[in-house]
Amino acid sequence: MNKPLFIIFYFLLSLPLYSQAKLDTLLPVRGFCIGAPQPKDVDRFIKFINEELAPRKVNTLILRVDFNYQYESHPELRDSIALSKKEVKKMVAACRKNNITIIPQINLLGHQSWANTTHNLLKKYPEFDETPHVQMPAKYQWPNPDGLYCKSYCPLHPTVHTIVFDIVDEMCDVFGSNAFHAGMDEVFYLGDDKCPRCAGRDKAELFAGEVRTIRDHLAQKNRKLWIWGDRLLDGKTTGLGMWEASYNNTYKAIDLIPKDVMICDWHYERPDQTPVLFAMKGLQVITCPWRMPKFAVLQTQDMVRFRASSTPEMKDRYQGMMQTVWSSAGQFLDEYYGQATNSNVSGNTASNCFRTMYNEITQLGK
Ligand SMILES: [Zn+2]
Repeated sequence: MNKPLFIIFYFLLSLPLYSQAKLDTLLPVRGFCIGAPQPKDVDRFIKFINEELAPRKVNTLILRVDFNYQYESHPELRDSIALSKKEVKKMVAACRKNNITIIPQINLLGHQSWANTTHNLLKKYPEFDETPHVQMPAKYQWPNPDGLYCKSYCPLHPTVHTIVFDIVDEMCDVFGSNAFHAGMDEVFYLGDDKCPRCAGRDKAELFAGEVRTIRDHLAQKNRKLWIWGDRLLDGKTTGLGMWEASYNNTYKAIDLIPKDVMICDWHYERPDQTPVLFAMKGLQVITCPWRMPKFAVLQTQDMVRFRASSTPEMKDRYQGMMQTVWSSAGQFLDEYYGQATNSNVSGNTASNCFRTMYNEITQLGK
């Protein structure tokens, strides 16, 4: 091949690598977070990984597994229908083929119940319940006199971590993951006045202590802890409210938790610029939208701008963007592929938000 032709040929070959490198510089983490599929939906979810996540250069997939796995260490914690090891391995292989890091999630501390259903940990080990005096209602409604949103486990119960870390380790092993997402969002029950271990303790210290316990456990096997960021934000001073931020004084934990915890900073109603706070505190942060496409675009532009305009010390703390989906994987796939119409006529849906945000990321990466 003559020299000019060779140069053109080489240039064309290197284009995809160049755009990949540019994207990695722009937004190191390009994520997608969803509930792990039911066994019957695994194959079409793999199709979604291959045909939708991979071409958009998504490089991080968080699967919220919880009890949707046939745990061998604690079979009593399995859901009645749960993923087998073989099904997990199929998803892991699909991600590996597409250079996607897969990170499993089990909700720790909070979210141990939903509406009037107690989840498996507290069902099988009711002694871990932070608020055993709060009865689960026959019919759940919010608000309610108990302030019951979700149950929590008691972080100071002497044996809770023995059980919980068994399934965390098993989950990380089967996913072959070097990171684990512990949830830890929307923890309303913490340091309850009636808990014999926690009563009277500082809630920020309790929250930070639990983050550190989980982080230190994972660090023994060089695994990194990811959590949601809402408990580390001051809901009253910022006006962010009690869901996206904390009303129960856990926010002071932002100064107490280890600096190598990855913060997934979710804001669904406005493009709040809270990543700056996390970065200035020394924490790595990822912005997470849900179903408002126009805010996801602004949040993506903000994230890119934060990286471009900050000090070298802070730049790499702005890690990227992650689309979050809160319907089940099956429901999401139905909506995504037009097999079910979403009643939300405004277009503010998770699938639209995902498409719009990744269009924006692709444009910025060009
Ligand atoms: Zn307690």
